[in-house]
Amino acid sequence: MKNIILIAAPSAGKGTEAALLKEEYGIPHISTGDILREKAKEDSQLGRDIKYKIDNGIFVSDDLIIEILKSRIQQEDCNNGYILDGFPRDVKQAEEYKKILDELGKDIGIVLVIDVSLETALKRILGRVVCPKCKKVYNTNTEDIKPKIDGMCDDCKIELVKRSDDSEQTYMSRYNTYIEKTYPLIEYYEKQNIVYHIDGNVSIDYTHNQVKKILGDKND
Ligand code: AMP
Repeated sequence: MKNIILIAAPSAGKGTEAALLKEEYGIPHISTGDILREKAKEDSQLGRDIKYKIDNGIFVSDDLIIEILKSRIQQEDCNNGYILDGFPRDVKQAEEYKKILDELGKDIGIVLVIDVSLETALKRILGRVVCPKCKKVYNTNTEDIKPKIDGMCDDCKIELVKRSDDSEQTYMSRYNTYIEKTYPLIEYYEKQNIVYHIDGNVSIDYTHNQVKKILGDKND
């Protein structure tokens, strides 16, 4: 299986698609946001610093994120491929990532860009709720991923929570950061001929079917 980099605006559905890919192909979903949200719970200066940055949509330092990423992709479960969600976040991180891959003898793989309109992304962000235990993402504004019981995880049976950065105001700042910093990454990878665009505006199934077609073609 190829290594996969998922790129999309915040709340476009990266996490949902990554979870489906993980289940179907048995490769790990590495969300730098999830890893950082765990670290933000620590009662330490670093934990508080990370929490402040997440709550305000500010990037954490490249040194920290590169260290986290480098150690994560060396774990055994990454040997047959992995899905990156939230990294690289800008061209500088992509250049650092390339150095790590060369050092570890790993392949860049492919880049999947999930395109959604700002309107779709905003609608999704306002309905998004997450299980604090298994991290499964639900959406009260999207029929096919509503929790069966309002406000409760289908699997863990515990209360779903809203991410602290999922307000309309923080969203606009995160979205602008995406356009300014992350969007140029697409062009960076297009020059390497490894980018595939997916229309993420329709539904979860529609997005996933497009992804499966691409992965099928690439692995034939
Ligand atoms: P996400 O869950 O991907 O939306 O990430 C949530 C927050 O975590 C971001 O707004 C940043 O504060 C931080 N973060 C996640 N990934 C990165 C990264 N690759 N570089 C810097 N900060 C990140």
